[in-house]
Amino acid sequence: MSTRTPLMAGNWKMNLNHLEAIAHVQKLAFALTDKDYDAVDVAVLPPFTDLRSVQTLVDGDKLKITYGAQDLSAHDSGAYTGEISGVMLAKLKCTYAVVGHSERRQYHAESDELCNAKVKAAFRHGLTPILCVGEGLDVRKAGQQVQYTLTQIDGGLKDITAEQAETLVIAYEPVWAIGTGEVATPEDAQEVCGAIRGRLAELYGQEVADKVRIQYGGSVKANNVAAIMAQPDVDGALVGGASLDVDEFVKIVRFRD
Ligand code: PEP
Repeated sequence: MSTRTPLMAGNWKMNLNHLEAIAHVQKLAFALTDKDYDAVDVAVLPPFTDLRSVQTLVDGDKLKITYGAQDLSAHDSGAYTGEISGVMLAKLKCTYAVVGHSERRQYHAESDELCNAKVKAAFRHGLTPILCVGEGLDVRKAGQQVQYTLTQIDGGLKDITAEQAETLVIAYEPVWAIGTGEVATPEDAQEVCGAIRGRLAELYGQEVADKVRIQYGGSVKANNVAAIMAQPDVDGALVGGASLDVDEFVKIVRFRD
């Protein structure tokens, strides 16, 4: 039986300013109980400008909510205008850094090579990368989703050691399901998540592969999360739109109820 603790992470994308972030996290903290935290790891992934406020709240009130950034630079410091480094995120006590979200890959032309450099940057500073992978609609229609996604895994994890890999989080997010309301079927999610774990076993051995948490992301809501979470290789959800609604996100965290 899997000992992986599910990870429910809310990707706020470019929503909620720092004042709204404080109110949102307070509401979330008020709703969640120790029973929730015992069963599930809960994370929020706010915009960079909110992180200091979230940190202050989490530290001050000793909240069990964890948090992370939606991206990080491949570099640690220097002449990279507009970028935020892993050093800075570690200083803000972030737990996670998302790498290679499809919106970064699509709108900022992020390649597997760059994602790999970002995964390494995250590990350099003690952050847990949430490496996002997933195919577009054309690839899915061609039936190439497994092969396409595994190529992203190979590229994103190049030269990553087994010790690093076992702490990793991977988010399988079919691009056609993100923000569209069109959720993958549980079987679709399992097919690719299972293949990802299989590739991790080839790369690092089964013991390491069994420790890696693989999330599904793409229009996860309270009414579809349980069926997806019932799949053996799905260990959580990366939740976009629905994470902006505290009540809905809490229901997602309580997917077992
Ligand atoms: C995401 O932003 O990673 C995501 C899955 O978005 P949504 O839940 O809105 O589809």
